Amino acid sequence: MVDWKTTTYAELATGLDKVLGAATAKAFRGLNCDTLGDLLRLLPRHLMSGTDVTDIAALIAQNRGGEEYVALMARVARVELKGQAPKQRLEVRLTDGRGWLTATFFGRSSLISYWQRVLSQSDRGVFAGKLGWFNDTPQLAHPAFVMVTDEGFVGSAQNTKMAARVSRSSFIGLYPQTSKLPTWTVAESIDLGLARVDGLPDPLPPWIRDAAGVCSLQDAFHGVHEPTSQDQYDQGKQRLLFDEAFAAQAAMAYRRMDVTTHTAVPRVTTEAGLLARFDARLPFQLTSEQVDVSDQISADLARTRPMQRLLQGEVGSGKTVVALRAMLTVVDAGGQAVLMAPTEVLAQQHAFTVTRLMGDLAQGGLLGGGDGTDVVLLTGSQTASAKGEAMERIASGQAGVIIGTHALLSTGIRFHDLGLVVIDEQHRFGVEQRTALTDQAGARPHVLVMTATPIPRSVAMTVFGDLDVSSLTQIPAGRAEVTTTVVDVGARPGWVDRAWARAGEEVAKGRQVYIVAPRIDQGDGKEGACVVDLAATLSRGPLAGVRLAVLHGRLPASEKAETMARFGAGQIDVLVATSMIEVGVDQPNASMMVISDAERFGVSQLHQLRGRIGRGAHPGVCLLLTSAVEGTPARERLEMVAATRDGFALAAADLAQRREGDVLGMSQSGRRSSLRLLRVLDHADIIDLARQVAEEVVRRDPAMTDPGVADMVADIEARAQADLDDSV
Ligand code: ADP
Ligand code: MG
Repeated sequence: MVDWKTTTYAELATGLDKVLGAATAKAFRGLNCDTLGDLLRLLPRHLMSGTDVTDIAALIAQNRGGEEYVALMARVARVELKGQAPKQRLEVRLTDGRGWLTATFFGRSSLISYWQRVLSQSDRGVFAGKLGWFNDTPQLAHPAFVMVTDEGFVGSAQNTKMAARVSRSSFIGLYPQTSKLPTWTVAESIDLGLARVDGLPDPLPPWIRDAAGVCSLQDAFHGVHEPTSQDQYDQGKQRLLFDEAFAAQAAMAYRRMDVTTHTAVPRVTTEAGLLARFDARLPFQLTSEQVDVSDQISADLARTRPMQRLLQGEVGSGKTVVALRAMLTVVDAGGQAVLMAPTEVLAQQHAFTVTRLMGDLAQGGLLGGGDGTDVVLLTGSQTASAKGEAMERIASGQAGVIIGTHALLSTGIRFHDLGLVVIDEQHRFGVEQRTALTDQAGARPHVLVMTATPIPRSVAMTVFGDLDVSSLTQIPAGRAEVTTTVVDVGARPGWVDRAWARAGEEVAKGRQVYIVAPRIDQGDGKEGACVVDLAATLSRGPLAGVRLAVLHGRLPASEKAETMARFGAGQIDVLVATSMIEVGVDQPNASMMVISDAERFGVSQLHQLRGRIGRGAHPGVCLLLTSAVEGTPARERLEMVAATRDGFALAAADLAQRREGDVLGMSQSGRRSSLRLLRVLDHADIIDLARQVAEEVVRRDPAMTDPGVADMVADIEARAQADLDDSV
């Protein structure tokens, strides 16, 4: 798949089955390792010098109730023989000076006396095994162990590998482990891995290593796995971190340069066209920010190189109008524009909004006079004939505005003259998919990416480093207030009924209401209210007589579309939905949202959900129903959401709690992610440095002749392509 240039990277890409055999390689999938490179980047979890001990209380707290494989370094406080032969057992009391843990050994008496002998060689050792619970007391049954003595490490026969391994370093690295892979098997596998890369050339040329101040890759691998000092370990880790940051930054720096070598058809704004007529019929005035951003975009569109711009803006800041204006600019200039949404519901919603905003301008084909342009929707679940008809209008150029989902990215669509691609809510797409759009020969379309998720600069550099950035920070004037209240259903059960009564009052005033719950139905084994049950209960009781509908991901696409359309048209009063309405749904008449089991949603998710109300002139009420008790972290997150509507503040708080992959929108499994060690929030400095170095690399070596850099970039692009192939 990838045409490797240097042997190090080719070697690191080797499948683990070739290095360790199929069975062990399969076990390593549990540690998210597929290749030799993954294996060598598996860092020890704890690095302990001969005098350290593991914090036993913390170890137990982390694994409470579970059946986890743990490894610890501890003192042996006491060794006791219990029971009568032949059912004797050896109880070993381990301590870190404060807490304690019992290790138990069963076996023939000859074995027991052998273990006793080994244990008596020192008062400290490394023990690794399954942490089980016996009468609510934690216990290690039959751990493997080595004792640390002045002469080195001694262990039972099965543990000699562990001893051999730890004796080469003055530190003991305890690796993450699984039931099939105890820590010393991981260590042994890593030794095999280290042997395979020994002597291979470094992918980074010396000048880059100097500029970055990092050690060689060889030293780095040995430094993290067999350190003789903490410093050596730190330097090794620094190099591995730098490589991850640099690979991503170099890929993006070359993409940025690559864009400048490609041409796009310039789409110059015309004086009297669709755009002018669209503006004239807009029911509101554009904010000054919207005007500024639109100007930036039209300047980009008028150039002969493809626009690559990110439009970042708070929920409700009015990105769609800006995007639509760009699309109409392109249509005026004779091209076609595509708007892609992450979900079908959102695509349909966009089609609805766009058609409404454009009015009779959206009927070019029907009028036949060429006055407007056709707006077509293309989604995966359409019937073959509907798709065929849409494709025909796309191919003929009759449709100027095309709205769809991912399906649009799949092959087989012919455009008449594609001028602009707008990608809404990019973070939902998986990061790298825009590459596919830019992969065509000849003139490329302009690209505008939109996201409502406020992201810190270091994240932006990593995820969107190949894009220019515009921001909308204001919420259009006249937007109503939204009051958010946390409702403690445990302490005030009566309030739940009040919430439903309040929803009924909103409906009586002609407003609409969203009710959100975490689950679809009972079938999924999770906890929290289900949309289906909640809807049934409400329509039988508190909301009887109200026009109520259900929306969730398992409904047929046509039903989802119809429900959204009816909610949009005001024919449904209350929509009981899962979090699928989180992005983009726009019904200005909706004034209330009740979120059941709110603690089951993330902070940013709640903020996005709440963004669905208060979009028109009507003040909004958002109720967060929760059973999370006051003072708990879950409850505090909800209080934070209630306290502010500042998306940036909430995102910053939220990011700290979420997994990196979620932040970056990387592939779900995270397996293909090129980021194994790098934490985008923690390592902003490294990312900054990597970006500077990457820019210098592109300046010095625009043709990417350096084989190592070429390999690192190829690796990133291959992962991006694989992600894309998965998602289409
Ligand atoms: P988002 O940035 O979340 O995608 P939208 O583009 O959906 O926001 O806009 C939210 C709502 O605000 C829509 O109903 C839209 O028509 C309206 N809107 C957009 N711009 C303005 C404006 N300048 N003045 C008043 N309302 C606006
Ligand atoms: Mg939007």
